[in-house]
Amino acid sequence: MYKMPPNERSVKKLIDFNSNDVKYRETNDNWNCFNHIIWRNVLYYTAIHIAAIYGSYLVFTSAKILTTLFAIFLYHISIFGVTAGIHRLWSHRAYKASLPLRIILGIFSTIAYQGPIYEWACEHRAHHKYSETDADCVNSKRGFFFAHCGWLMCAPHPAVADHGDKIDSSDMLFDPVVAIQRRHYKPAAIILCFVMPTVVPMYFWSETLCNGFFVCVWLRYILALNACWLVNSAAHMWGYKPYDVSIGPTDNSPIAALVLGEGYHNFHHTFPWDYSTSEWGWKCNVTTFILDQLATIGWVYDRRYATRDLIEKRRARTGPKDHVFIHQDIGY
Ligand SMILES: [Zn+2]
Ligand SMILES: [Zn+2]
Repeated sequence: MYKMPPNERSVKKLIDFNSNDVKYRETNDNWNCFNHIIWRNVLYYTAIHIAAIYGSYLVFTSAKILTTLFAIFLYHISIFGVTAGIHRLWSHRAYKASLPLRIILGIFSTIAYQGPIYEWACEHRAHHKYSETDADCVNSKRGFFFAHCGWLMCAPHPAVADHGDKIDSSDMLFDPVVAIQRRHYKPAAIILCFVMPTVVPMYFWSETLCNGFFVCVWLRYILALNACWLVNSAAHMWGYKPYDVSIGPTDNSPIAALVLGEGYHNFHHTFPWDYSTSEWGWKCNVTTFILDQLATIGWVYDRRYATRDLIEKRRARTGPKDHVFIHQDIGY
């Protein structure tokens, strides 16, 4: 059960989660993730990756083409639920969305099965505030594997809970979509992530249970999961830093293409409240394209974005000094 937070308090705290905590740079060299491995999780993640590999085998041997297309469709809508919904809307409040859109995003993000919106967004706000420190659950200073998925296979560093609790995320529970999804998360995820993707191909085009289950559930789920994990791992290690050279996140176009526009991570950590997560508009950014289309029918409104002037000033202050950057007109 969750408690509804007092109105005023949570609204005031909203400003806080979109800024880096530059004073906090705690490190604890004695803490070693290998001493805190949760073997049950290691087995679980190994098993579901094997299931996905078997799913990819079925794609080329026995699955119907419609099943593969349906898996691709589910991959994209589930990632859209994460990028447009959990990430840009609920974690960063970078724009506002009508109730029908919020319900759709809630359903899509449940298909993604990456945890309830509320918990995902709480962790993500802490990731921004304490990026590349012990309080960041996906701390990329511990290496690619840890930032990618290793963090899910060991107990978190104590600083994650200590500092995560300081971030007020109660604003999200005002949204009934977030609250209801959180309350009914397990049955909803079983139905939307596992049952529906298996049953739809069986019912509509007489696919086998095995093909539906391994292709539309495990293969689709694992590919989407790894694509999203790359933002925490690769986009914190490899790429350009055009906006702030002092932070870990990088701009990485190939990842942006995989994750519907979430790879411009140096920009995103510099301006986390920008609804587009980049200054390049629709380029490699399907999420922004769809949000802009939805804005024309009023389902998306109050989009916040960094102005060119603000971007230039920030780049002059914290960007690379030896780099000439050419702007592309995106028509803001
Ligand atoms: Zn990040
Ligand atoms: Zn973010």
